Amino acid sequence: MKRQRLLCLLLLPLLALLPSRETAPALAPTPTGYLALTFDDSPNGAATERLLDGLAARGAHATFFVIGEQIEGQEALLRRMADEGHQIGNHTFTHRRLDNSGAVGRHELERTEELLAATLGGAGYWVRPPWGFASAETLREAATPLVHWSLDTEDWKTRDADKVARLIIDHAQDGDVVLLHDCYESSVDAALAAIDALSARGFAFVTVEELFERMGVAPETGCFYCRPDRLREVR
Ligand SMILES: [Zn+2]
Repeated sequence: MKRQRLLCLLLLPLLALLPSRETAPALAPTPTGYLALTFDDSPNGAATERLLDGLAARGAHATFFVIGEQIEGQEALLRRMADEGHQIGNHTFTHRRLDNSGAVGRHELERTEELLAATLGGAGYWVRPPWGFASAETLREAATPLVHWSLDTEDWKTRDADKVARLIIDHAQDGDVVLLHDCYESSVDAALAAIDALSARGFAFVTVEELFERMGVAPETGCFYCRPDRLREVR
């Protein structure tokens, strides 16, 4: 009898964890909107690590456009990004503009694609052209979708966490692709503050690829997207 009572006492807390029909926990509310934060000129050592910590703590995902020549020595950081569900993209090898560099630009994309594949496996890493410069030729030769942005935080110019966070919080709309850089501590602070404020308003933070899925748009090779439902014009 004594043993039975003890067993009951031990099981009681476990029973409380089982969902019952009457007290089943409410499902998490459906997000009111989706945003894709994108970080260019990645990876950047300690700042990127702090960003990854902050994203993980918030259950948020992001997209990192990587400069090929910065990969050496930061392979573990790249693997961490991929393991934690973030999207990784190609931002050329030396941050070269693609609209006027012909074969050199093509080679930079290929070299970075090879490095990403060697580090992470897979293939077909989406491209963000440095400075957003691409030509019709760039698009014709592309092997993946190209990603521009629909909300430019100008974080590189102001380097002011409050201003950058405020800009995102005040202007971000469902489906936006937000441009940031993880080389600035101020941008890391701004991104995390914006996630906190906008999560409270029901926004969810997803990769660019997931944003396409959420919006029901099939991404196409050689298209230059500001956001899944808007293309960037090039000449
Ligand atoms: Zn860049």
